[in-house]
Amino acid sequence: MMRIENLVADCRTAQIDYYGTDPASVAGVDRKRYLTAKVAGLATEVGELSQELDWPMWKDRDEFDHDISMEAADVLIFLGNILAATGVSDEILQTALDVKDRRNRRRAIGRADA
Ligand SMILES: [Mg+2]
Repeated sequence: MMRIENLVADCRTAQIDYYGTDPASVAGVDRKRYLTAKVAGLATEVGELSQELDWPMWKDRDEFDHDISMEAADVLIFLGNILAATGVSDEILQTALDVKDRRNRRRAIGRADA
């Protein structure tokens, strides 16, 4: 079982502590602006993570010696902020993760039997 603990709640608390903005209380046009900025941040961080992965196949590197945890953390923080602003709690996220995990597991088992 995959576990999400307090990602969304902790991201929400951090936004309140650092910026005085509760993502869950931003509404209307302000929420659209907030989400637009956070999605742009998320996309940027995914790009930075991709850069850390040495993804170009034409670069012949056998060894992987990068620590990608800091970029992964950036991705999770932006995602947590987006979830907090859209009403997705840690409990809701955990339920969705469980559903997806079961679905992926069934799919993998089906492939193994084929
Ligand atoms: Mg980054």
